Amino acid sequence: FLTVQGLAARYGTIDVLSGIDLSIARGEILALIGPSGSGKSTLLRTLVGLIRPHAGHVVLDEERIDYGSKASLKRARDRFAIVFQQYNLFQNMTALRNVTIAPTIVKGRARGDVETEARDLLAKVGLSAKVGAYPDELSGGQQQRVAIARALALKPDVLLLDEVTSALDPELVTEVLDTIRALGREGMTMIIVSHEMGFVREVASRVAFMDQGKIVEIGKPDRIFDAPETERLKDFTAKIL
Ligand code: ATP
Ligand code: MG
Repeated sequence: FLTVQGLAARYGTIDVLSGIDLSIARGEILALIGPSGSGKSTLLRTLVGLIRPHAGHVVLDEERIDYGSKASLKRARDRFAIVFQQYNLFQNMTALRNVTIAPTIVKGRARGDVETEARDLLAKVGLSAKVGAYPDELSGGQQQRVAIARALALKPDVLLLDEVTSALDPELVTEVLDTIRALGREGMTMIIVSHEMGFVREVASRVAFMDQGKIVEIGKPDRIFDAPETERLKDFTAKIL
């Protein structure tokens, strides 16, 4: 469904991603783990077209995304949606409006249809009661779930989540993880960067361990956590588990 081949990216002259190969089936949840600075966020940003790769290519559903062309870049942005640790909701808009703004303004869809969908999405993330609330009236976990609903409103083929629970107080993490788990059950294809290793182990179909801009090991969660093959992954799991 999604194939990444030889993807490479740099900031200035510094290579931060090189030779990234990945293949993900529809409905799979791939977790990216690895030390700080290993390139996890850069990989997500590159997929969505926020950083232009200098080598490699991505094929999504048989469509090759050429990040050099404007039209193709636009397609990438239509097909991947990303949610960041800092959810960046529009403070002057209600939860509902935060979810409907992109589909109505960017995509030019009819407001009525979009609102109906947005209410469904907010219900799905457990926020039916907060449709009219402004971000400063919501907890961090609730805001993060609005951000997830906002990403889903763009009907992405693949949802990218970059440490969406890292900025949250521990008691708010569970509700966001529950939301991600529910999306997984519905068959949403996701690539998640997470430091919640228990969660990764439970929901991920596969785990990719990154270090220094490369995927060092990839496999089923049990294999990655219980039988690491490289010293680098052994060191990493020894530190975090
Ligand atoms: P973390 O777990 O800390 O979020 P990460 O795996 O997401 O780390 P990246 O943010 O992808 O790591 O960073 C990969 C490398 O790219 C790091 O060495 C980082 O210093 C560098 N880098 C990230 N953003 C920039 C930038 N805007 N300009 C220059 N270098 C950057
Ligand atoms: Mg990061």
